[in-house]
Amino acid sequence: MHDFKYVDGKLTCDQLAVDTLVKKHGTPLYIYSQHTLEDHYQKLDQALAPLDHQICFAMKANSNLAVMRTLANCGAGFDVVSEGELRRVLAAGGDPKKCVFAGVGKTEREIEYALKQGIYAFNVESEPELQRINRLAAKHDLVAPVAVRVNPNIDAHTHAKITTGTYENKFGIAFEEVAAVYARASKLKNLRLRGIQMHIGSQLTQVEPFRLAVEKMLPLVKKLAKKHSFEFFSIGGGIGIVYDKALESGAAAWWQTPAAKNIITPASYAAALVPLLKPLGLRILVEPGRFIVGNAGILVTRVEYVKRTGKKNFVIVDAAMNDLIRPAFYDSYHQIVPVAETAGALISSDVVGPICESGDCFAKERPLPRVDEGDYLVLMSAGAYGSVMGSNYNSRALTTEVLVNGRQSAAVRERQPLEIIWEAEGIPAWLTKTA
Ligand SMILES: *Cc1c(COP(=O)(O)O)cnc(C)c1O
Repeated sequence: MHDFKYVDGKLTCDQLAVDTLVKKHGTPLYIYSQHTLEDHYQKLDQALAPLDHQICFAMKANSNLAVMRTLANCGAGFDVVSEGELRRVLAAGGDPKKCVFAGVGKTEREIEYALKQGIYAFNVESEPELQRINRLAAKHDLVAPVAVRVNPNIDAHTHAKITTGTYENKFGIAFEEVAAVYARASKLKNLRLRGIQMHIGSQLTQVEPFRLAVEKMLPLVKKLAKKHSFEFFSIGGGIGIVYDKALESGAAAWWQTPAAKNIITPASYAAALVPLLKPLGLRILVEPGRFIVGNAGILVTRVEYVKRTGKKNFVIVDAAMNDLIRPAFYDSYHQIVPVAETAGALISSDVVGPICESGDCFAKERPLPRVDEGDYLVLMSAGAYGSVMGSNYNSRALTTEVLVNGRQSAAVRERQPLEIIWEAEGIPAWLTKTA
């Protein structure tokens, strides 16, 4: 099923018209399709069915409680990166026993909290971290389940800010050092060496780097699994999606659009990896974020002004980089479409937000239908690394998020009242004394 499509010239999410949701909730407005979330989860789950596996949704991609609950109901565990995220798992009704804890900078407080919640494993990124986890587990008379994050030094051929599997960056332990690290870790009494983990980067649109990384890891995993009685091998996240022309009429899913030709799919991912992984006899963990949520969400924005200068056609919208920072941060591309389908010539347009930064720009010289003040545009594929990266820059409120399920919809986050933005701030007494 394709859950964002035009019906009688109106963009719809599942069985609801986007303009109806806009009337009810205003803009900027994030809209998530529950059905798309479930569909993506199930497609991957089914593709990996030949393996004993667990999908741990990388919730840093989208940690809205309703999104998480949708996935928890499907059976998902979570890949968390902070105490706040683990507390969110509980708030969303997820199972901490299906959670793995990633990240290079876990604090003592975070480790103690995660230990008490009984998470599945800490994905450990350095030897000092192993020692810290061991010491804190001993303090509470617990045994901490750990896996070392291996940096396989495979270039994922993705954007520099989202590649993680090479030695140029801060993540994981170098492939060549891993065996010695496990040998030393095996002497730490309050650790259980439960598995091994890798993650090579994000938005990988081809299967090849995954296959290369798994092939490189296999001999090491086999050897260490035997020696330390591993239970699992986590192959990380990073499955890419289509951003360009993600909305194409007639396609059953975004990976069946013409733009998705040759792009990675759950089926091609599994076809390449299952035969390699199955003989290990280990539980396989995957940590997809973007693949599950990216194309399950859109950001709707209102055209406030159209400003025509000599050379340029600026479409100034009410969403900004504080709502969706990806174009400013990663130079990323989002397809932009009108809520009301329009015919007619396309005009080269710059779509910009109201924030006082030149970087507050969603698209440059993009051929778009003619729009006027009061029209609505949609930034497609905004479900991953969208709302979660929202900020209050320019004292703008974190905006509304809506979940759609068939004909039902609910605000799953209300727009922040403005006063909340400075609620935790204060003015010291000496500044308020009058002379
Ligand atoms: C970010 C991250 C993921 C998820 O990446 P996606 O590209 O969203 O699938 C998974 N695992 C780790 C360790 C990560 O840092």
